[in-house]
Amino acid sequence: MNILAISSEMVPYSKTGGLADVVGALSPTLANLGHDVRVFTPLYDQVDTSQLNLEVVLPDLDIALGDHHYRVRVLRDVDNPTAFLVHCPVLYARGSIYTHHPDEHLRYLTLGWAALLTSQHMGFSPDVLHCHDWQAAMMPLTLKACFSWDRLFENTRTLLTIHNLNYQGGFSSRILPDLNLQGSTHLLHQDYLHQGRINFLLHGVLYADGISTVSPTYAREIQTPEYGAGMDPFLRERSSTVVGILNGVDYESWSPEKDEFIPYRYDLDDLSGKEKNKKHLLHSMGLPYVEGVPLIGVISRLAGQKGLDLLGEALPPLLAQRNVQLIALGSGDPGLAQMFASLQRAFPRQVCFFNGYSEPLAHRIEAGADIFAMPSRYEPCGLNQMYSLRYGTVPVVHRTGGLADTVQMWNPANKTGTGFVFDHHDATGLHWALGRALETYRRRDEWPILMKNGMKKDYSWTNQARVYEELYRRLGS
Ligand code: ADP
Repeated sequence: MNILAISSEMVPYSKTGGLADVVGALSPTLANLGHDVRVFTPLYDQVDTSQLNLEVVLPDLDIALGDHHYRVRVLRDVDNPTAFLVHCPVLYARGSIYTHHPDEHLRYLTLGWAALLTSQHMGFSPDVLHCHDWQAAMMPLTLKACFSWDRLFENTRTLLTIHNLNYQGGFSSRILPDLNLQGSTHLLHQDYLHQGRINFLLHGVLYADGISTVSPTYAREIQTPEYGAGMDPFLRERSSTVVGILNGVDYESWSPEKDEFIPYRYDLDDLSGKEKNKKHLLHSMGLPYVEGVPLIGVISRLAGQKGLDLLGEALPPLLAQRNVQLIALGSGDPGLAQMFASLQRAFPRQVCFFNGYSEPLAHRIEAGADIFAMPSRYEPCGLNQMYSLRYGTVPVVHRTGGLADTVQMWNPANKTGTGFVFDHHDATGLHWALGRALETYRRRDEWPILMKNGMKKDYSWTNQARVYEELYRRLGS
């Protein structure tokens, strides 16, 4: 199949979250299965191009959106030929990936148009146009309204993947001319338009041939008012086309037996390196190592979605009453950063918080911690709990979205399960689950079995890419 994909993030060029990992891993895996995959993604100013081997696909492509004109250059990464980087400094050299600038919609419409126009130049006839998140969500409608004359796209089926329903790309209807819809504006959602709004994600939901999200549980949740973020009526209407496909893990980067970032490698047969990693991690963060004291790890965007406020309530009594330590890594919301900083001040020998983004430290926490806390309010899929399973770092999670699909409650009676799961999203629920984890940690006959149950799980991309492959084939039928 010819697969054209559009994504605002892609590892290794850009990343703020799971989307980048998904696109960066799914594309080469599909290519290895024999498909011609071409992903269009912006060349942001953070990308160090001196480290890349780029070839020019199109030196000069003019894109007109309403009254705005952009001149873009399309480059291909010779070492990663699925990646097509759209170079347009006026749009993508902003010092951060996303902005609140008034031209945010233009930044991503340009990306989508660059993908379609470059396909025309290349004579690339996609069987599938795979649009990721709101940034690409106008493209199924754009294809229908502006490109249907071109036989190149006559067999193109479209798929919208929603990585997080709460980011929808809502704009004022003043941007209408920038959509280039001319005589086709009736195709926009008219009630929204009359209220002066244009919601990009909604138009993906309305016009894509298929809709997917990143876990089966989240696919069900987003069709309910509680998790639907206003989009649930539209998703319910298209219920038969909404599917959940769990993200895979890139085990090349995230496996304790080959992780380049961790000082001591280990695997299922010999876990001894894990304790050494823990000791190294604690010392590097300025905390004492005491044998038998469990270490809880947190790696997260600091955002309301992640439920970290529950940690702020549940942890102080645990830290005061029990021998337990915490290392947290995260950046984002200043209030949550403040919360972790005050925990560190209150428990200086037990808590260390690193406010920032660090890939190496993320790996070292996965390898060194005993328990991983992920109390997300909602979680479309979540990657860190799956990394944790692989590293024998037992996850403590809220039963929602992908967390519910990937972590099973430990049952000491028959020694099954991979972690600890709480149902009620409150501090009591989290406190209960952490308490269960800490008690189990002390049972030296149980804990290694629990760790190994998780380490044996396989959430590799090869399996998941085959599921996408099947979905691509079914689209529109
Ligand atoms: P989301 O996409 O909602 O942020 P995921 O769990 O799907 O959540 O993916 C998060 C990814 O971002 C993981 O690969 C995680 O390791 C990484 N990550 C998040 N915050 C940080 C940070 N401060 N430093 C390093 N990596 C981080």
